[in-house]
Amino acid sequence: MAFADRATIFIKSGKGGDGHVSFRRELYVPDGGPDGGDGGDGGDVIIAVDEGLNTLTDFRHVRKFVAGNGEEGGKRNCHGANGKDITLKVPPGTVIKDADSGKVILDMSNKKEPVVLLKGGRGGKGNRQYVTSVMQAPKYAQPGKPGIELNVTLELKCIADVGLVGFPNVGKSTFLSRTTNAKPKIADYHFTTLVPNLGVVDLGEHEGFVIADIPGIIEGASEGVGLGIEFLRHIERTKVLIHMVDAASTEGRDPLNDIEAINAELKNYVVDLSDRPQVIAANKCDVMSETDYETVITMLRETYEPQGIKVFPISAVSGKGVKELLWHVNDMVKEIPEDVITFAPEFDIYAQDDPELPFEVSKSEDEEGVYIVEGPRIERMLGYTNLEDEKGFAFFQRFLKENGILAELEALGIKDGDTVRLYGHEFDYYK
Ligand code: GDP
Ligand code: MG
Repeated sequence: MAFADRATIFIKSGKGGDGHVSFRRELYVPDGGPDGGDGGDGGDVIIAVDEGLNTLTDFRHVRKFVAGNGEEGGKRNCHGANGKDITLKVPPGTVIKDADSGKVILDMSNKKEPVVLLKGGRGGKGNRQYVTSVMQAPKYAQPGKPGIELNVTLELKCIADVGLVGFPNVGKSTFLSRTTNAKPKIADYHFTTLVPNLGVVDLGEHEGFVIADIPGIIEGASEGVGLGIEFLRHIERTKVLIHMVDAASTEGRDPLNDIEAINAELKNYVVDLSDRPQVIAANKCDVMSETDYETVITMLRETYEPQGIKVFPISAVSGKGVKELLWHVNDMVKEIPEDVITFAPEFDIYAQDDPELPFEVSKSEDEEGVYIVEGPRIERMLGYTNLEDEKGFAFFQRFLKENGILAELEALGIKDGDTVRLYGHEFDYYK
């Protein structure tokens, strides 16, 4: 298919650099203090909207995006360099989903600023940071936190107020070219347009809306037959549908059957699109005899107006009836609140935990009242949790509870006021 509006890619943030263990060595100073520097932070995976893009084609060639790792700390308190961030540029209207569950992570449609999708792992602290009154020469440093990896699906959903739907050749492209600044191809064969055309309807005095010609809807689209389903995705975003039919039956089609067939497709889509506010544009009225006009328009009105669907007889070619239709649609669009068309996040990257990863809870052998919690599972959690942040700390507490870590500490006999140590973080335990 010529038009890429979906791509699945692998992304990974950088690992934090390890903290360094070293001791100052100076002439005539036999026992220099610890001077191991901190590791650098791993690079972030960042998503940014690029207004100049309108497809996801780039992501069909390169499918792996890995940010740089942080460098290890050095001696003489040298801080390791931070890993390089990586920025993915996507077209406006891109929705990012978890590839496995299909859940929405982020909708870029209203995002003006770049967003950090995956935070890099934090660099570990050097041994200099572990000096305490009882431990003057610590021989350990903190390892850097691992990065996060994820398969994500990018989906491009047009941002348009109005979707133009209808069978091929009913006049959608003609309508778009007459009412907007868009220059779609108009032709007598089916599936001319593979890319949804966006156009701005300017009604003057700051009135108007964005309209998308959504091509290629055919029967069976909702079951994935042909191109249709790819384009139904774009309708999800629109607030109002203009449902165009060939009222003159220039290709021998029955307008009523066509409307029903398309409404059935809209209903069968992943999300029911059939309750989207709709108007019917009965096109090609210029080539209808007076009696045909009377019969067809009356029939359409009697069928659909009781369902709240207004019927507008128009001619995309002559422009007859078009203004009335546009103003009516403009009023409908204005009534629908903006946030209806953005997708709420359903998937929290930072709450993803891998229950396969091990961890260990133990009682310190050298220090009284000190408990140690460690292991890859803990490291992973610390890598994406900011304990200084209120939300991060609340998550951390939940994590300890839900993973049975608190229960293990209690089983080992932890008492109020004892210390819990996790990779350089220390907490007093209170039940
Ligand atoms: P689409 O496939 O729905 O985009 O349809 P097009 O806009 O490409 O039009 C298909 C054919 O119908 C073209 O030959 C157009 O010139 C013709 N057409 C479109 N609108 C009208 C109209 O209002 N009146 C007449 N007579 N022909 C039209
Ligand atoms: Mg067309």
